[in-house]
Amino acid sequence: MKQFRNTVIRAGLEVLYFSGAHILLRPIFSGVGAVFMLHHVRPPRDGDFQPNRHLEVTPQFLRAVLTHLKSRDIDIITMDEAHDRLRTKNFARRFACFTFDDGYRDNRDHALPVMREFAAPFMVYVTSDFAEGTGRLWWVALERTIAKASSIEVTMGDATARFDTKTASGKHAAYDRLHDWLRSLPAHDMQREVSALCARHGVDEEAICRDLCLSWDELKSFAADPLVAIGGHTITHCNLAQQSEEAAGEELTVSRSRIEEKLQRPVLHLAYPYGDRNAAATREFALASTTGYKTAVTTRPGMIFPENADHLTALPRVSLNGRYQEARIVPVLTSGAATAMWNGFRRVDAA
Ligand SMILES: [Zn+2]
Repeated sequence: MKQFRNTVIRAGLEVLYFSGAHILLRPIFSGVGAVFMLHHVRPPRDGDFQPNRHLEVTPQFLRAVLTHLKSRDIDIITMDEAHDRLRTKNFARRFACFTFDDGYRDNRDHALPVMREFAAPFMVYVTSDFAEGTGRLWWVALERTIAKASSIEVTMGDATARFDTKTASGKHAAYDRLHDWLRSLPAHDMQREVSALCARHGVDEEAICRDLCLSWDELKSFAADPLVAIGGHTITHCNLAQQSEEAAGEELTVSRSRIEEKLQRPVLHLAYPYGDRNAAATREFALASTTGYKTAVTTRPGMIFPENADHLTALPRVSLNGRYQEARIVPVLTSGAATAMWNGFRRVDAA
């Protein structure tokens, strides 16, 4: 299913590109701006089994996007400034925001130098347990386990499934199946299953977080850079919609006060973990606003329109996705035609 969806997205992007339709659609669907979503920025890695490839782009691709935006005279602004422009209906100039989820060390090592070339500010949404070094990046744990194993046995409900993971295609099939199964479980069950898998296959689950994420000390100097702003991304990186209202509220407020205390700066912006409609919807949008966040971003695809001023805690984003890194795709992404197509040409999707 995931493969199918990727194929459809790719086909859509290709059709838009080759037909030139994105140029025709631009004035109608490009909105007033865009919030770009990124995760890792790092040089490409070798190997056929990279199921989380969509979560990373290369520094070169980031530079291509920034170059394109600059050539189109689009302002690159902070989330604070985007918030102000939306509230005051200041749409004289088109804008783009750059946001990075989770708090990865490569944001400092590979994204910051490129952002500096363009004096472009950006937002990093920090999961406080990741900065603490105690968080669980289960999707990486799953990748590392399957990469290492030649076969995997898992009991799902009443049935035991066995996956042959000798080949790259076997590994991908196992990853897709296990990923979807794990995401369907309540947070603590998922955690238990991932930990058991890691233990059985000798993967050091706890090291992953320290390996990939900026620690509090590192974040402190990173956040001192004038281009860097820090936002919240919950305590544990849980699916908020699966939590009780009280627990979800705590994820939002406790993570914020931890970051504020450690970094001594206000945290006013939020990104919902996973951020799709199963992880963030009406209740979470309201909760983000009552707990005091000025803006909150989802992973729902879309450009920013003036109407988004009424839904500041349900902002859509445009994913800079590692699977579509050809430079020629950049104008298609920034035209808004791709996200408009994905949304069935609705302008605002905030329910
Ligand atoms: Zn995240």
